[in-house]
Amino acid sequence: MNKDREVWVFIEQEAGEIATVSLELLAKGRELAEGLGSRVCALLFGHGIAHLAEKAIYHGADLVLLADHPELALYRTLPYARVAIELVRARQPYIFLLGATPIGRDLAPRIASAVRAGLTADCTDLQIGDFQRKDRVYSDLLYQIRPAFGGNVIATIVNPERHPQLATVREGVMRLAEPDRTRRGEVERVEPQFDARDLVLQVLKREMRPPACNLKSASIVVAGGAGVGSKENFRLIHELAHLLGGEVGASRAAVDAGFVSAEHQVGQTGVTVRPRLYIACGISGAVQHRAGMDQSSKIIAINTDPAAPIFQIAHYKIVGDLNAVIPWMIHAYHANAK
Ligand code: FAD
Repeated sequence: MNKDREVWVFIEQEAGEIATVSLELLAKGRELAEGLGSRVCALLFGHGIAHLAEKAIYHGADLVLLADHPELALYRTLPYARVAIELVRARQPYIFLLGATPIGRDLAPRIASAVRAGLTADCTDLQIGDFQRKDRVYSDLLYQIRPAFGGNVIATIVNPERHPQLATVREGVMRLAEPDRTRRGEVERVEPQFDARDLVLQVLKREMRPPACNLKSASIVVAGGAGVGSKENFRLIHELAHLLGGEVGASRAAVDAGFVSAEHQVGQTGVTVRPRLYIACGISGAVQHRAGMDQSSKIIAINTDPAAPIFQIAHYKIVGDLNAVIPWMIHAYHANAK
């Protein structure tokens, strides 16, 4: 095993549960580590969270670096960054993956800046490959793939010289693997050493608001775009979603127009969904929207424009006015439902 090329995954946890994005990254990390002949190391920070190490191993970690300390009970930038940076300096991982969550987006740049390494945010794919610059070939680099320049190009970014190669990935982009309960791994406790300045910020009170919708794990999503026309008209989208037992999604244009709240946005800067059925109503199908829904098992698109890009990926294409088509669908559902 090539320990010089370890793939690290930062494990986010909340209320005794590992975040789905971290489990997805463990699966991706496993795939990358196998390509490198290396191992996956999970960084598990918190307090009273030792029991989560086993789950990280079932999902792909070979080694769990466990920092269990009262000062790590709730996420705070400085203590978490201190522990992560010290570990990176001491052990020099080759690749370091974090979720593109508020925590990952806060922590990753701190680490990258402290160790002068590159970081690519919001990757949509990660692969291992070679890179040639002039006469020099760098082998087995991390290809950090993501849309760039407003989605007009898909860029492959490499960090040939400075490691670790840091990348963040949003939830739902990588596939979640089934846990393998026969997997065995090692758990190594690390003792955090804090500087007094790391602890200046104290959390006095914490309020949690339940999410308005659960798009990420919805098996049916009915999404509306600018073509819906108004907030009032968006009730058609709500009605169809409710009838089918699904969740309401939206394009950014619909969110920006105030038809629906930002939690419903699907796409590159919204949520990534992978439902069994995605119904896109009055959505043109811009690349940034498609990045969040093109893995749906079946896509139905309703659009007045037969040349709308959404039809390129739709399995069922309905050219028509959603104001007529959606009521027909609702009527047909009632007529055929037993
Ligand atoms: P439009 O492009 O205006 O399309 C409206 C569609 O409705 C048209 O195809 C029209 O033919 C159709 N239509 C009109 N009336 C009707 C009717 N009565 N019946 C049926 N069809 C009708 N967008 C996202 O969605 N998610 C993102 O996460 C996202 N992130 C972005 C990130 C960046 C960095 C950038 C630059 C852009 C991002 N965008 C995102 C915006 C994206 O580029 C598009 O502008 C947006 O997706 C367009 O939304 P839309 O399809 O609803 O609107």
